[in-house]
Amino acid sequence: MKSLTSIEEWRDYCERVRRAGGRVGLVPTMGALHDGHASLFDCARRDGTVVVATIFVNPRQFSDDADLQTYPRTLDDDRAMARRHGVDCLVEPRLDEMWPDYPLPTATTVSVRGVADGLESVGRPGHFDGVASVVAKLLTITGPCVAYFGEKDFQQVAVVRAMVRDLGFAATVVACPTIRESDGVALSSRNRRLSPSGRARATALSRALAQVAQVPASASVVRATLRDTLEDAGVMVAYADVVDPVRLTASGDDESGERRALVAAIIDGVRLIDNGPVTLVAREA
Ligand code: AMP
Repeated sequence: MKSLTSIEEWRDYCERVRRAGGRVGLVPTMGALHDGHASLFDCARRDGTVVVATIFVNPRQFSDDADLQTYPRTLDDDRAMARRHGVDCLVEPRLDEMWPDYPLPTATTVSVRGVADGLESVGRPGHFDGVASVVAKLLTITGPCVAYFGEKDFQQVAVVRAMVRDLGFAATVVACPTIRESDGVALSSRNRRLSPSGRARATALSRALAQVAQVPASASVVRATLRDTLEDAGVMVAYADVVDPVRLTASGDDESGERRALVAAIIDGVRLIDNGPVTLVAREA
């Protein structure tokens, strides 16, 4: 596995892959790698790409400084995990190259509207400006590629897709399914910050989603069921919503068909998110 930190070497590596007839598979991460990240590496390898993974804890996507300071960093384990899963090139970009002006604001920000509004943006103002800006930079340096993201961050995938389409990046975005623990909890680097009782309560997110996935219902019944399940488990609900899976607009009671349920909860001060499919049936007038 090749290990790089400089933007110039990273750009050259990707150029060489393409000149040799290969396709670059980009997997952006913030490290603290787990089986969810590994599944993206596996997905990229199965597609036959030369896998370029990045580890960069992007300060511009954290709206809470304490969250940034306590974000887990496990670089030695991450390198071993990347190697085990056949990553061809691991890039750990330097902060002074990614955001030369940091902590001052950079002159350029990529700001996506519509799909980036609401849901995560309510509790994390500016979060998706940070995400879109860093992904734009990663895609610019990497050049033409297939870019792999996890469906666990459903709104993030929608934001990246909108940005790629609107700005004409030469990237094909692939969304990979959410990897879960045996009790249903979606793997997340943040799970390791939960207390044992918090970890037990975290099962409420996937339980709520599984419940609404089973029985077709109206949008307001889905929202109420999600919220009740989460509150009964004693977790603080940030949102529990049902939306159009592409535009992420809130679904109304007059709608039927396939939609997406999304939940966010705060447990032990840790923000957890999850989502799943749901079938709506319009409420009788
Ligand atoms: P992060 O390091 O949290 O920024 O995540 C890097 C990538 O891994 C993102 O595209 C996430 O959506 C994806 N990811 C994180 N957790 C999971 C999971 N449990 N299953 C699948 N993908 C995941």
